[in-house]
Amino acid sequence: MNMRLYNDLSGRHERFEPSRPGRVTFYTCGPTVYDYFHIGNARPFIVFDVLRRFFESKGLEVNFVQNFTDIDDKMIQRAEQAGVTVAELAEKFIAAYYEDADSLGIRRASANPRATAEMPSIIEMISTLIRKGHAYEANGDVYFEVGTFPEYGKLSGQSPDDLRAGARVEIDDRKRAPLDFALWKARKPGEPAWDSPWGPGRPGWHIECSAMARDYLGDTIDIHGGGSDLMFPHHENEIAQSEAASGKPFARFWIHNGYLMIDQEKMSKSLGNFFTARDVRAEFSAFAVRLFMLSAHYRSPVNFSRETLEQASHAQARLRNGWAGIKFALSARPGGAAPREPDAALRESVREARALFDERMEDDFNTAGAIGAVFDVIHATNVSLGREGGTDYGAVADAAEFLRMVDGVMGIIGTDDEKRYGDADMEALINERHEARKNKNYKRSDEIRGILSQKGIILEDTPQGTRWKRAE
Ligand SMILES: [Zn+2]
Repeated sequence: MNMRLYNDLSGRHERFEPSRPGRVTFYTCGPTVYDYFHIGNARPFIVFDVLRRFFESKGLEVNFVQNFTDIDDKMIQRAEQAGVTVAELAEKFIAAYYEDADSLGIRRASANPRATAEMPSIIEMISTLIRKGHAYEANGDVYFEVGTFPEYGKLSGQSPDDLRAGARVEIDDRKRAPLDFALWKARKPGEPAWDSPWGPGRPGWHIECSAMARDYLGDTIDIHGGGSDLMFPHHENEIAQSEAASGKPFARFWIHNGYLMIDQEKMSKSLGNFFTARDVRAEFSAFAVRLFMLSAHYRSPVNFSRETLEQASHAQARLRNGWAGIKFALSARPGGAAPREPDAALRESVREARALFDERMEDDFNTAGAIGAVFDVIHATNVSLGREGGTDYGAVADAAEFLRMVDGVMGIIGTDDEKRYGDADMEALINERHEARKNKNYKRSDEIRGILSQKGIILEDTPQGTRWKRAE
């Protein structure tokens, strides 16, 4: 692997090698579990899932940690509104997270620590920061003193002076300076609280991630990921806490995915354009959603709309139908029969696609470019299956192996999932057969009839077009 990643910390592309050979430590900020996650949150989940799988496909072991924030202001407010405890709210939406993430084909993390289960390590890190003079207590609250960490701002590229000038002037006389942020918040009436050396209270959001990353992955991690909206202040604060506590670099690589825009606006609840992943998944397959997310560079903004998702869904149908044709051809393979002539063109295009796929994935994780190589192979195989000289089954099997590898990394084709075929897929296959007949490609048209009949679908050609029905 010769991976280059854009590192937000240096503002440059850098060659990525894990600090310990063969083992990658990877932390990403997980959801606050007060609601179903929205399609904008699904972007980092899918993108980092695919980066992790790509590393694994190259033989690296990836320790991939994504937390659940199960205590904060939003959790407390929402629980109060719903008349449940914060813990009950968290249970409900952690279960919903797994359901929705599974339904999107997102692999489970190596660990999903929850803030409320990590209090000892959170409290220990806060104590260390106080002992080292980076934090101070004020009436049961504890604040990080930003002025004691001169490198503050290095990730987002802002100087502490600029940040101070731009900081909202809050009327809060407990803080020594406006940029100081809470590590521990003293209990307020009715709020859940944990015992600490500063009295009962709860942790701030930023310290959770620093403490959990350290606990599960060590002082210095290879990659820290998250949405670009987290770069400031969340990730800047994580760096300040972790590096002030350990005296070591926190994350070697910082990577951030771009925004997901809904009809060109940054998605947020306040804009009223809220779509949960669950809503989207009810209408579109996981393969289509993943293809949509991976068809843009991870750092670019993407525009989400019904139309762009429908486009992805059509493109996905080409992948899936191409795969169905390949599977059908291989299942019909005459035992051991050699092709009348090898298909040099197909063999060459699979070889090229393998090289291109890797080259593009290793070039700052250019999934969109890598997907181009996948469509090339689907196209070349279609051409090959319709050619005169007989099928070169070895070459087709080679193409199938490449597509399985791709699917193991991206989860966009459905090579191991024939069961999700719904009516929309039938229509796509029937349309493809119609095109094949128009082009006098009777071999392909008969293949599609075969694929459909294997699925219990009977076709009827009528003067009005082709109708289909399920065999009784
Ligand atoms: Zn975080």
